[in-house]
Amino acid sequence: MPMENSIEYAQQQDAQDPLSAFRNQFHFPQLHGKNAIYLCGNSLGLQPISVREHIEQELLDWQNMGVEGHFEGKNPWYYYHHFLEEASAAIVGAKKKEEVVIMNSLTVNLHLMMISFYRPAGKRTKIIIESPAFPSDQYAVDSHAHLHKLVPADTVVELAARPGENTLRTEDIIATINEIGDELAIVMLGGVNYYTGQFFDLEKITAAAHAVGAVAGYDLAHAAGNVPMKLHDWQVDFAVWCSYKYLNSGPGGTSGCFVHEKHESNHELPRLAGWWGNDEKIRFEMPRHFIPQRGAAGWQLSNAQILPMAAHKASLAIFAAAGMDRLRTKSEKLTAYLEFLIDAANSALGKNAFEIITPRDKAARGCQLSIFSLSGGKELFDQLALNGVIADWREPEKGSGKAGIIRVAPVPLYNSFEDVYQFVRILKEGILKNEQ
Ligand SMILES: *Cc1c(COP(=O)(O)O)cnc(C)c1O
Repeated sequence: MPMENSIEYAQQQDAQDPLSAFRNQFHFPQLHGKNAIYLCGNSLGLQPISVREHIEQELLDWQNMGVEGHFEGKNPWYYYHHFLEEASAAIVGAKKKEEVVIMNSLTVNLHLMMISFYRPAGKRTKIIIESPAFPSDQYAVDSHAHLHKLVPADTVVELAARPGENTLRTEDIIATINEIGDELAIVMLGGVNYYTGQFFDLEKITAAAHAVGAVAGYDLAHAAGNVPMKLHDWQVDFAVWCSYKYLNSGPGGTSGCFVHEKHESNHELPRLAGWWGNDEKIRFEMPRHFIPQRGAAGWQLSNAQILPMAAHKASLAIFAAAGMDRLRTKSEKLTAYLEFLIDAANSALGKNAFEIITPRDKAARGCQLSIFSLSGGKELFDQLALNGVIADWREPEKGSGKAGIIRVAPVPLYNSFEDVYQFVRILKEGILKNEQ
């Protein structure tokens, strides 16, 4: 059935959506006395209602048992991170739960992985990242160049879109990898770029990196819980992600880390060690020398942060129930509907008020669309907020001559076709109002 620009069509899609009931499992922020139209799950996912009881359970065990909660609690804290592995492995496409561990926060995990997997030697020193990369990732890779006494400007190669284009072509990424060849140590990209919403072809990029003898690792902050992945099959060396964006596990929440099975017993990889990475069976015997656990768990430093992990556990149960495949099916439709309505708004306005810079190809994006606002700046965005929409606005880069950008992410777990319809209606009315 062709898509239609009408509230009836949107409501009909919601009525037919097998995942529509998941929306009821989330708290919606209130704006002007009603549920906000929340399209900001790319930045901070909504709170699952079940988070509270999960955290309260741990508070209760702590209250009633003190230290005994480590082994006697309902969910013994000593093993708590294990309760998160299976659902996390399914989200990122790990072959087995030993390939993933939940620990720390995202940038910390990126550093831990870079320590192990960025091993510049001889002329093989270069790091490829994308542009624009998330600032934390830029700072992180620069600091690793410094750690090895290298100059970041000579070491970090930033992939850029062709003039007049907004996203990267896979062929250009691979050409750069081949050009750098035996000088390339590592490719470290955001799996889904935070700014453009482009989902990179991780399988092809990983193969190209390996073909020239380099390592491939990814920051999946905007990919985890957004797009299905097969990190194991794609031979990705490592990956890291946060849990507070699409994974709805709360501000500053805990983070995930993937290490491919092929590295699981490689004790030669240098790493920063801590007691929680030590062989679990003898950890509490406090051995003098570090014996890493097999797999990703061997990179743990500290004992598990139970309260943020309890929030994550609540959220992962929802993902396990919904399933990434079903979420992706809905997500493709929902984002295609947003795209359709934005194009329709341009036609109705008789001009290019909005330019979608996210790839049009469904395989090359997740749920987020990044939209240049060519006919209205921050005042248009403020109109959205006045009308109950929570989205994300970025000022244009200074001196770039570009427009400001609206990033909107209809999230398949809790957004509806009606949310998308109302958002574009309000956006279009905002333009008309500004022109009066
Ligand atoms: C959100 C995000 C971060 C944030 O890092 P934290 O350590 O969680 O503060 C880092 N990198 C990317 C690509 C992100 O999207």
